[in-house]
Amino acid sequence: MALHDRSQSRSSITAWCDAVFHVIRETTPCVSWCSRYRSEEDPMLELRPGCECCDCDLPPETDQAMICSFECTFCQSCATQKLKGLCPNCGGDLVRRPVRPARYLAEAPPSSQRVFKPAGCATA
Ligand SMILES: [Zn+2]
Ligand SMILES: [Zn+2]
Repeated sequence: MALHDRSQSRSSITAWCDAVFHVIRETTPCVSWCSRYRSEEDPMLELRPGCECCDCDLPPETDQAMICSFECTFCQSCATQKLKGLCPNCGGDLVRRPVRPARYLAEAPPSSQRVFKPAGCATA
């Protein structure tokens, strides 16, 4: 009944990695990223707070955030319309960021570090 069962949040991330493997199993950066989250103590996504491209807000509960395997983070409209589904930094696929359930946010807070690279987006 613990509200913050780490093994449970780890297994949900592992399940997400399995889903990503299924879609982009050829992508080496994703494989290493997922093995990092499978094996080390801290299995959390950063949950960056904004889009790198247009700097709009992407709170942890949004279903509009798209990330690459390195967690470069974009809003859905930039990811699909400007970037055509590919990360401008690493060239990897952008997939929808899983929502972290609100009950985990106190223990596993989202990143407050905003990444904004308009130049990276413009050259995509
Ligand atoms: Zn955007
Ligand atoms: Zn990337």
